[in-house]
Amino acid sequence: MRRKYGFVAAMLSVILLLSLGLTALYTGQEKGGKRAFKIVTSFFPMYVIAENIVGDAAQVSLENLSEPKTGCLHDYQLTPADMKLLSDADVFIVNGGGIESFLADVAAEYPKLQIISACGDIELLESGSEEGEHSHEEEGNAHAWMSVSRYMQLVDTVAGGLAAADTARAKLYNENAKAYRQRLLPLQKEMEALKENAGGGAVVSLHEAYAYVAQDMGLQVAYTLNLDEERQVSAGEVADVLAAIGENGVKFVLAEEIYGKEMGDMLLRETDVRVIYLDTLVRGDYEKNSYLDGMRENIRLLREAFVQ
Ligand SMILES: [Zn+2]
Repeated sequence: MRRKYGFVAAMLSVILLLSLGLTALYTGQEKGGKRAFKIVTSFFPMYVIAENIVGDAAQVSLENLSEPKTGCLHDYQLTPADMKLLSDADVFIVNGGGIESFLADVAAEYPKLQIISACGDIELLESGSEEGEHSHEEEGNAHAWMSVSRYMQLVDTVAGGLAAADTARAKLYNENAKAYRQRLLPLQKEMEALKENAGGGAVVSLHEAYAYVAQDMGLQVAYTLNLDEERQVSAGEVADVLAAIGENGVKFVLAEEIYGKEMGDMLLRETDVRVIYLDTLVRGDYEKNSYLDGMRENIRLLREAFVQ
């Protein structure tokens, strides 16, 4: 028995020495100037923007925080893995507008980390939520990516930030951003064309994010019930929604399927509204076309509702 343990111990030592050696080799390579320019993004829409701007740039690594499993990023707590990811990042791309509540902590922990705030250059809509649990901590309605025209501005801001932080690749970043904008343009035009069909009336929104969709469609939001997470809806809130629908002649309700279905079903039973379930585009397959595909589907659903 003793001999067997001795063998195991020897093997473990060999493995340990080997891995130490490999680590040293790898670190050495990094120090040799081959280290990639490391970009970290805060969540899905930012990752997709960065993916399009980085394109096939060599020696650039792009990673995303681990993110919550459902809903938006509000109140998200960074994991130890996230902190490790940020510890050697060159640039951290965030949405801004207060949606990353951990941002002050990150800035304090890593003072040298360059933070690009995609919403930095735009004016956010006011937070329209009556009972928003986290909205009061935020600087407005941070879901600006839900407007195609504003999203194009976010792309510009991120490209500008990356070009300034990584001047060697500035030209490439700007060219890629321009190409991406070209691909977004048809969606913006479709939205513009749909305005006519939308009829300019009032809507009720069951998620703050849709205020941007409503604005793109020339619609007024009569009432917002922010069902951004699993929570109890009070009888008073239900009454407010029904009153808003009645008083404003609301024909359309914009909702998210995960949290808004129950309320949506109730409204279908109690009123004559049409409920349009849209993607808030906070989750997806992290492909370059994810935003384009998701927004295209949203536009299809809007057209289906408006053009009858
Ligand atoms: Zn949200």
